[in-house]
This record gives sequence, C-alpha cells and structure tokens, in this order.
Amino acid sequence: MPDTDVIIIGGGGSGLTAALYTSRANLNTILFEKLTPGGQIALTDVVENYPGFPEGVTGPEISMKMEEQAKKYGTQVVYEEVKTLTKLDKGFTVQTSSNTYKAGALILATGASFRMIGVPGERELTGKGVSYCATCDGAFFKGKEVVVVGGGDSALQEGLFLTRFATKVTVIHRRDKLRASPILQDRAKSHEKIKFIWDTVVEKVIGEKKVEAVALKNLKTGAVENFKTDGIFVFIGHDPNTAFLKGFVAVDEKGYVVTDPFLKTSVPGVFAAGEIRAGAVKQLVAAAGEGCEAALAAQAFLEDH
Ligand code: NAP
Repeated sequence: MPDTDVIIIGGGGSGLTAALYTSRANLNTILFEKLTPGGQIALTDVVENYPGFPEGVTGPEISMKMEEQAKKYGTQVVYEEVKTLTKLDKGFTVQTSSNTYKAGALILATGASFRMIGVPGERELTGKGVSYCATCDGAFFKGKEVVVVGGGDSALQEGLFLTRFATKVTVIHRRDKLRASPILQDRAKSHEKIKFIWDTVVEKVIGEKKVEAVALKNLKTGAVENFKTDGIFVFIGHDPNTAFLKGFVAVDEKGYVVTDPFLKTSVPGVFAAGEIRAGAVKQLVAAAGEGCEAALAAQAFLEDH
C-alpha cells in the first residue's frame, strides 16, 4: 500500500495550494483529483480578482500553472476518485476507485459542485441546450438567444461572457434584487445584449431533441408563460462535494465540513480548506489562503505525532 505523509483530496485552488506548501515542506504529498485540475476555476472564463494579474487570467491558465507549481516541488497528482476514508491508530487509509493509500494527515479540498434547478426537462436536455458552464458551451450559441438562471456573481459573470456569442442573454432571477457584486451588476445592467426577467423561476425546460423554450412562472402574479430560447445556462449556487465523507468528519446541515479557526475538522489529523468548508469565502484567493493554512496545520500535526 503506498504510504505517504499527506494526502490532499481535490485539485482546485485550495488543494493545489496546500500541495505546494506541503511539498515545499518536504512532506511526501499525493493529491487526488477526479477529473481535471483547477476545480471550479478551470471552468471559469477569466479571473479578474486574483492579485497579481491586473489584466485578469483565464481559469484554465491559472489552474494549469498552480498544478505545475505543486508538481515542481514533488506533489504526485493521481487521477482517481476517492471513495472512503478510514481512521487507523496512526494515520488514515484512503480508498479510491482503484487503490488503497495510507497517509499521516489528510486535507479535504473537494469544493462544491453546481446545483441543478430540478425541473422537468432539465436532466433530459443537459448537453442539448441546458448547460452549467458558459466557458465550455458558450461557443455553441453563436448567433442564438439564451437564458441564464440566477442572480449571483456566477450568473452575471457567465452571462456577460455569453454576450460574446449569443445575440441576446436574458437573466431570469427569482427576486427583484441581484445578489451579485455591484461591479458585475453595473456591467450586466448596462450591456445592450442583456435583459432581465425578475421575480420569476423556470418551471420546465421544453424541447424534443434540443431546448426550444422554458416555462416561466412569475412568483408575484402566478402567471406561467413559455419563453422561446435556444439554450439555458444555470448558475444557482453550489452544494458541497462531501458525500464520500459521510460519518467520517462532522458536517453542517448543508453538508459543508465544520472546522475550527485553524481548519481542523472533528478528526485530529484531518483538515479542510476552500469551498468544502462551512463558512468559507468562495473566492479563489481565499481558497488558496486556506490551502496554505491547512498545509501548515497538517505539517504541525505531523511534527507533533
Ligand atoms: P450564489 O452567490 O449562491 O448565488 C446563487 C443565485 O442563484 C442567487 O441569486 C439565488 O437567488 C439563485 N438561486 C439559488 N437557488 C435557486 C433556485 N432553486 N432557483 C432559482 N434561483 C436560485 O452562487 P454563485 O453566483 O455561484 O456564487 C457562489 C460564490 O462564488 C459567491 O460567494 C460568489 O461571490 C463567488 N463568485 C465570485 C465571482 C467573482 O468574484 N467574480 C464569480 C463567481 C462566483 P437569491 O439571490 O434569491 O438567493
């Protein structure tokens, strides 16, 4: 069984930063990633609020650079999905889809995944006009009309990105006030291609082989009408990727991992960083900062034990 000092689960901004720090502390580090490195950032068009990049940096570019930097100092990135964690008298075992590993300390950094609306037609038409990633699918909507669901930073940032391709972007929000930051609100509201429909939710996604319309319900009047569209992009927040942790560490009522101010979970030797953590500020710079903190805490734990 491969035996290592630290296992980091998740290769987003927090996991990759943790790996950079543990590797540079000469701790043998394995980082598990299910798909591609970068987590949510890899699916983001441009990151404008990570210090040091006044012109912005694309999500894929900063993800790849973070991975490259961690590997440069010795991190071993393994593309296997972690299934279960077990506490031993000393250390932990990590069971993945194809192997079992042992480590002295764990850092949980699996982040969160986009939420679905949960209406008829959504699942059936995913990939056929329903999307959760503008960077991945935006180009398919050149010259077409799309709707964006949500009123947060993601909805507006991705909605603005979609104006590069679509002729019209209609943001559908369940309230009449946006949650997004003022700078994005100003940009979206003043963009000639972006329109808003307020106090409204999507009740159904309609289409045979591809999306043709959405059924919209006005929450104030109760009126339901079909709204023609070629595509629907959903950005209504995230749920934590913590299913594999059930019963292993304490989580809150929404499933986020509970930590103390030093990023220690309920199990000594297990730390959590980034969006997986209850109370985390969901920003790349904060994820990176927490990755650093968790790595230093793991290092101190290993020195003490
Ligand atoms: P969010 O801030 O949680 O916003 C989710 C939006 O979706 C809210 O407007 C919410 O409405 C709406 N919503 C939630 N459930 C819904 C449902 N079932 N049906 C319809 N609408 C629903 O999520 P996010 O925009 O993905 O952002 C997540 C975090 O990442 C935030 O902290 C954000 O600041 C950060 N982020 C930052 C940037 C940036 O800095 N440029 C970019 C992207 C994301 P209500 O407003 O009514 O609750």
